[in-house]
Amino acid sequence: MAELHEECGVFGAYAKQPMDLAGMAYYALYALQHRGQESCGIVLNDDGVFTTHRDLGTVNEVFTKQKMEQFPSGTMAVGHVRYGTTGGTNRANCQPVVVNHMKGKLALAHNGNLSNAFELRSKLELGGAIFHGTSDTEIIAYIITQQRLKTPSIEEAVCRAMDFLDGAYSLVIMSSAKMIAARDPRGFRPLCYGVTAEDTYVIASETCALSAVGAKFVRDILPGEILTFDETGIHSNTSHCWKKEKTACIFEYIYFARPDSVIDGVGVHDARKNAGRLLARRHPVEADMVVGVPDSGLDAALGYAEESGIPFGLGFIKNKYIGRTFISPGQGQRMNQVRIKLSPIGQEVRGKRIVLIDDSIVRGTTSGQIVNLLREAGAREIHMRISSPPFRNPCYYGTDIDSRDKLIACHHSIEEIAQIIGADSLGYLAVEDLTEMIGSNQYCHACFSGQYPTAIPTNTQKDRFEGKLSQREKKKA
Ligand code: SF4
Repeated sequence: MAELHEECGVFGAYAKQPMDLAGMAYYALYALQHRGQESCGIVLNDDGVFTTHRDLGTVNEVFTKQKMEQFPSGTMAVGHVRYGTTGGTNRANCQPVVVNHMKGKLALAHNGNLSNAFELRSKLELGGAIFHGTSDTEIIAYIITQQRLKTPSIEEAVCRAMDFLDGAYSLVIMSSAKMIAARDPRGFRPLCYGVTAEDTYVIASETCALSAVGAKFVRDILPGEILTFDETGIHSNTSHCWKKEKTACIFEYIYFARPDSVIDGVGVHDARKNAGRLLARRHPVEADMVVGVPDSGLDAALGYAEESGIPFGLGFIKNKYIGRTFISPGQGQRMNQVRIKLSPIGQEVRGKRIVLIDDSIVRGTTSGQIVNLLREAGAREIHMRISSPPFRNPCYYGTDIDSRDKLIACHHSIEEIAQIIGADSLGYLAVEDLTEMIGSNQYCHACFSGQYPTAIPTNTQKDRFEGKLSQREKKKA
């Protein structure tokens, strides 16, 4: 039950005949809801006419029966779920973004954060551009639109725009006649496509969304690839596919992605179970039961139990009927969330020595609450084991941890953290275990190691941007 959030999930569909693609987008976004609960949106393309609905809220809150009935049949659709950080939480930042330009229009859905966003914004403003956007997605949409005016096709414009962008971006872009999927050259965020029995092509952040709409997985979009779907077929542009190392976000496997998804050939459930096995080898302990914190600690707990021979047990019941109110950010709300979300099973844990497995400790608040719940339920000893290394560095590639201030492992030793959260012992996975966890060494581990795969924004760039934002807010007021 990590205290950090993924930013977004994206979806696209391309059909040969008009059909209910808004309905398909609805179910796919439902499957991607874990990637963002603050806002969502769908843009439907009916012969070049775009129908858009976006709002703050979860998929079932935003897309009521009445709203869904307003969507006509169409041949293309783009969808998005968002957990917002850059640009804040307001209606203006809901996606997909729709832009009208001199050669047509486009709708764009984005997952990730640009690591050179501050630099790009300054360049746009210095170059005399009238740029009012605040989010990375608006920067990307602006650059693609600018390039579109100089190029013969939308895919060529996307290709040229990618020369400017650095950092994490998985994109789904819809023009009047084409659907495009593009992934940054390091492949930070996942993106894949599949096909349904009716020959509708489906693009999604995770394979779980393909399964939800009955599409068969075809393959992942390659890091750096631009894949275009149009009436002439599917066209792949690999000119941005580097020979360099891929740096896929390891946290997708640890926490963000759904366990039934497969990313770049590695099953998320398998990776988490491996993490549990490695953890059992690295930090063995005498105990009576292994308990996973629902949901993302469960797979690793199974791995720990298998490797250690200590029985796996259900220590908690998770309340499945909690609405978005309890998933919204904010320390005050977080304090209550844990007790409302999780309930320990007293008869299972009472008097026992528990190995408690969770995916990460970010601020420490949630872990402390969970340990406390087990103590209250009568657990005799609690040995906390974390299926990732200590989180010590901010992430600039699409999560909501952008400052060291919030990270408990930056300010305390492991022994101190154990004391703060009230555990009898605490053990983490090591950075070098991650390669064995996913069977590859091509991943980003910057939040653990501090080794960033791109240049990162300086404080001066951030301050300048935040200063401009507050000036703009003052003017609005
Ligand atoms: Fe993922 Fe961490 Fe890299 Fe961010 S810094 S992309 S969370 S591995």
